[in-house]
Amino acid sequence: MDWRVPLADLDYGKEEERAVIDVLRSKWLTMGEVTQIFEAEFCRMTGSKHAIAVSNGTLALHLACLALGIGPGDEVIVPSLSFVATSNAALYCGADVCFADVIGPDDVTIDPNAIEGLITPKTKAIIVMHYAGFPCCMREILEIASNHGIPVIEDAAHAPGASLDGKALGTWGEIGCFSFFSNKNLSTGEGGMVTCNRDDLAENIQLLRSHGMTTLTYDRHKGHAFSYDVVTLGHNYRIDEIHSALGIQQLKKLDRNNAKRRELTQVYWQNLRDTEIELPFVQRTWGLPSHHVFPILLPSHVDRLAFMSAMRDAGVQSSIHYRPIHTFSFYQNRFGTISLPITEEIGRREVTLPLFPTMTDEQLEWVITNVKRLIA
Ligand SMILES: *Cc1c(COP(=O)(O)O)cnc(C)c1O
Repeated sequence: MDWRVPLADLDYGKEEERAVIDVLRSKWLTMGEVTQIFEAEFCRMTGSKHAIAVSNGTLALHLACLALGIGPGDEVIVPSLSFVATSNAALYCGADVCFADVIGPDDVTIDPNAIEGLITPKTKAIIVMHYAGFPCCMREILEIASNHGIPVIEDAAHAPGASLDGKALGTWGEIGCFSFFSNKNLSTGEGGMVTCNRDDLAENIQLLRSHGMTTLTYDRHKGHAFSYDVVTLGHNYRIDEIHSALGIQQLKKLDRNNAKRRELTQVYWQNLRDTEIELPFVQRTWGLPSHHVFPILLPSHVDRLAFMSAMRDAGVQSSIHYRPIHTFSFYQNRFGTISLPITEEIGRREVTLPLFPTMTDEQLEWVITNVKRLIA
């Protein structure tokens, strides 16, 4: 469809085109100098000691779980109000997941009290997800986690450039996982990054990313190594130089584009505040979010499907973040019926409106006008 206002759009220009052509001309296509630069720049942006670039955000989460030794018989606490990859990562390792509810309509991040209530002797990790790039209650969560000696993984797919008390999201827990999928704040098409401060974890993640091999093809190309050993069961989760080159360019635009998302969000909030719509995070006074998406909660009496269809007819694309993971067939078949009242209510009422850095004032006004018209 040719949307008058799409849900998301890329901020791509000549810089990205040139960066790709430079890689093609260099004739070195995977895991070389460009990837090293991307990782170094990501370390600088987040303040993380290590950043390990991978093929996508899902694999970043899988590597995080593997590096922490999660396996069969373990339990991992996860939010259900997230993308399915958040919890799939634990299942890939043979572990079970325990779904925690979110705080409420004002704050749709994972509830620290719910986490605490789910901890058992089998709990091996907690995965939190910074919804729309709004920080989870990291101080409370880390206190609970450290009281029980359980590591925290941050699914920071929504949160590049976001921070809490000046410290980047993705660097609060033991491991941070980022996604550079096309619709994310930093987009390379496919791509991801793992951040961590511990040297042993970083080394393990680097091995697991490339077949458990002790040297890279690039090292051998450079004459730094002639052979390798395989020391663990690894994977091919590498990124290539073209995606890294795009990442370097997108990273340069990240702060400016997140600020633009913030301005657009403020205008949405100002204009929708006095309607029956509930606005998650509108009361937030803490943290620097990345505003990955703009969620609204429709009044219970509004038919969401009818609302989204009417928006479509006005040329406005909308979406849902998210259908709760525990309600998917696969998860129901595996874990049975679970009750998470707040997550389920939000899953029923949430609609995501367009938000992207190149959105024009005219587009924003058109969305607001139509939302108000349909709610009235
Ligand atoms: C996008 C996303 C992922 C997965 O990232 P991919 O790069 O698409 O594999 C994981 N978690 C959340 C919350 C996401 O939004």
